[in-house]
Amino acid sequence: MKNDEPDLAIVHANQLVTIDSKFGVPRIGEKMGELAIILDGAVAVKDDKIIFVGTTEDLMSKFTYDQIINKIDATNKLVTPGFIDPHTHIIFDGSRESELSMKLAGKTYLEILEAGGGILKTVRETRRASLEKLVENGKKILDRMMNYGTTTVETKSGYGLSLDSEIKSLKAANILNKDHPLDVVSTFLGAHAIPPEYKGRTDDYVNLIISEMIPKIASEGLAEFCDVFCEEGIFSTEQTQKIINAAKRYGLKPQIHIDEIADTNGALLAAKLKAVQAGHLLKSNDEGLRAMAKAGVIATLLPGTPFCLMLKDYAPARKMIEFGIPVTLATDLNPNCWTESIQMIIVLACYNMKLSPAEALTAATINAACALQRQDQVGSIEVGKKADLVMFNAPNYQFLAYQFGINLVSTVIKNGKIVVQN
Ligand SMILES: [Zn+2]
Repeated sequence: MKNDEPDLAIVHANQLVTIDSKFGVPRIGEKMGELAIILDGAVAVKDDKIIFVGTTEDLMSKFTYDQIINKIDATNKLVTPGFIDPHTHIIFDGSRESELSMKLAGKTYLEILEAGGGILKTVRETRRASLEKLVENGKKILDRMMNYGTTTVETKSGYGLSLDSEIKSLKAANILNKDHPLDVVSTFLGAHAIPPEYKGRTDDYVNLIISEMIPKIASEGLAEFCDVFCEEGIFSTEQTQKIINAAKRYGLKPQIHIDEIADTNGALLAAKLKAVQAGHLLKSNDEGLRAMAKAGVIATLLPGTPFCLMLKDYAPARKMIEFGIPVTLATDLNPNCWTESIQMIIVLACYNMKLSPAEALTAATINAACALQRQDQVGSIEVGKKADLVMFNAPNYQFLAYQFGINLVSTVIKNGKIVVQN
């Protein structure tokens, strides 16, 4: 075999959805619907990289097909870039399934909290858990994500809320990145909630984050991003600014949770702070959204959250696309919204936020790569990028939103290696 011959090839894909960069990175406005599809598509891979993208006929004429060791026939199948999940909280211990019946009985979040549930239950359990336990929990989640077609994941800390527990959580994320086939991007979210021992003293906790947590985490290289849960009654816009500005001084890139429950002018703040991505945005006002579009802040929409909270309003995705905001999708996986499946999120995005299947797929691939600043490596099927590919038991991309409640994945390739074969 010649040196430039592939060691893996996918041929005869009914649809090869490349999400080619020619339609913009990130995709905005009408371009979100441009998938750059190749019929009877083929991809060739050498080591961990894509070395050819085109039709099967072109692949056969370019390479000695018989000599390629791994050949995958994708007849009647759809091939897309691996999904990227740019906003999750997978580092935690325990579970909160008992809260569903309380929610169904009409109990408020505060009542659930008073009954010993909610986020503080997860904080108690995560603080008690060993590093090894957090890694073990994370591995199970990543395995399922991979099985559902995700190849790159962001995860946040934020269930430790003390220096030691936040460091333990980020160490778990870093170990998972090293040991698991998936790429795991770490975000420090010490400002996720006010820890019980700081009740009524939020400013003191903000000072702890700024003076101890951020410097330590940055010096140990444990996180790439810093996030804040900016919300009425949690962290104010002023406190959020203080934390994000401190994080920036230490080289952590900014992202924020905003306007989930109330409009606190979070979208405007995201634009002002030049956040890479901002999540939730259910209640954001038009002025803020226009500022986000102008500043190029990516809107990370998390339709699993209103679904779990049984809300009738979702983020105004159509308006965001019209305003020219790059939109991405994520699971927001956490103990209160537990899904590993981007396929499920695509379904929710289409049915409840009126994204088209093409827009949802763009949101879950190239725009998600931009939300993690990895658009040069992943998010599309192009020569030179990582060979992160997913093959689906579906003839076209519309099936991703059309046939729901099942896993359509047949094969997942991560860094050029087959990691899932259903
Ligand atoms: Zn979140």
